[in-house]
Amino acid sequence: MSKAVLVYGIGISGCGAADILARQGKRVLLYNDAGHEVDADLKELLAKSGGQIVIGKKEGLLDDVEEVILSPGISMENPLVQEALNRGINVTGEAELAYRNYNGHIVGITGTNGKTTTTILIGEMLATLPCVTKVGGNIGMALTKEVETMPENSWLAAELSSFQLETVQNFRAEIAVILNLTPDHLTRHHTMEAYGAAKCNIFKNQHPEDVTLLNFDDPVVKSWGGLVPGRLCWFSRREVLPQGIYMQNGNFVIAWNDTKEVICNRKDLQIFGGHNEENVLAAIGAAFFAGVEPCNIAEVLKNFKGVEHRIEYTATINGVRYYNDSKATNTDSTIKALEAFDGHLILIAGGRDKLTPLEEMMQLVKTKVDTLILLGEAAERFKEAAEKAGVSDIRMVTSMKEAVELAYKTAVKPQTVLLSPACASFDMFTGFPERGRCFKQIVAELSAAEEK
Ligand code: ADP
Repeated sequence: MSKAVLVYGIGISGCGAADILARQGKRVLLYNDAGHEVDADLKELLAKSGGQIVIGKKEGLLDDVEEVILSPGISMENPLVQEALNRGINVTGEAELAYRNYNGHIVGITGTNGKTTTTILIGEMLATLPCVTKVGGNIGMALTKEVETMPENSWLAAELSSFQLETVQNFRAEIAVILNLTPDHLTRHHTMEAYGAAKCNIFKNQHPEDVTLLNFDDPVVKSWGGLVPGRLCWFSRREVLPQGIYMQNGNFVIAWNDTKEVICNRKDLQIFGGHNEENVLAAIGAAFFAGVEPCNIAEVLKNFKGVEHRIEYTATINGVRYYNDSKATNTDSTIKALEAFDGHLILIAGGRDKLTPLEEMMQLVKTKVDTLILLGEAAERFKEAAEKAGVSDIRMVTSMKEAVELAYKTAVKPQTVLLSPACASFDMFTGFPERGRCFKQIVAELSAAEEK
């Protein structure tokens, strides 16, 4: 019997990997620690090439395994992964597998925050090219599934998390983007150095003609400039660069060799906040190097309304605007949201605590937030940090409904209600989308009641 490939994790990416491997005739052991529903078609497909679903660790599981494909949720420190490494079995991830099965061009996008927004922007810009283009990675479908039907001269915009990048081997993005690096996922990577090293894997296999776009304004990302093997293009919203993508008098400018082009002005955008300007600069750079016409880049930017759950405008009730930023699952993204508003905020925060430092965020809360409403497991620690920073109006609640209703009762024009939790959602929700939808639903009910 041929050796098997063990796919670890039965989620979107694990099932995608198992599917493509089985169709290539590989014997696949689709493995998970605990029970998980698997599509009947996939089960049948696996069985056809001698594979099976395995739940729970079994004696001899790795005995005739030639390779392990990890889902992003599985850490390299996992005991089964360590055992595989000790036995000399190759361990890699789904992004690498997708790369092996794809001959087209890739723009890879990573960073702590802004990946999805930037990837979608780049995807829309690439879609103006006269070839097949797609977005994938952390968004929606498994990368392996996305690339399957893509021809050689196509372009893929791939959103890549540090977990996906941790396991890449030969993966090469001709255009790589690193947006920023701030504390997050430290329970998995332990140190900022390890977290950063995973991000840098995005450019490690680049050829000299490839391009990496790095954020000149982010001190950690900036320090990686010397490591880039391909061409390095900086982007900055704070400095006019001799060469790169930057902002000048609110204009987004490309300056590269003989090109000097103004794409559009920040006033032309429908999304707002300095963080989004960084995402826009990165997207402009990536699209430019992929050959997208500047007028098409501008057109996409002007029409882009942002992504759900990212400082998403929800409603106006009694002159008070409500925004859903449920995707703010770490302190940096909440800081960016606070910076994007002029002040007079009623902020709803808290959830599953990531135990990252809170001083910087609470200093900003003190200047921008009139009332801080806290919920979830992190509420007590957030309250202590807020008190320490001198935030005066802090309210504790136990549910999203209570939080939104309290905000509604408290808020008067020109205040703005913002949900930007700076926490994961898993203490009360299945994920940030459910949390955001819950917020929007309660806001909609209040709005409807008001109109009666
Ligand atoms: P990711 O896919 O990296 O999580 P998203 O585009 O989904 O990024 O945005 C996640 C959160 O971070 C949202 O709250 C959003 O408003 C905020 N955000 C978006 N872009 C940036 C950025 N460049 N820097 C910091 N925060 C950002």
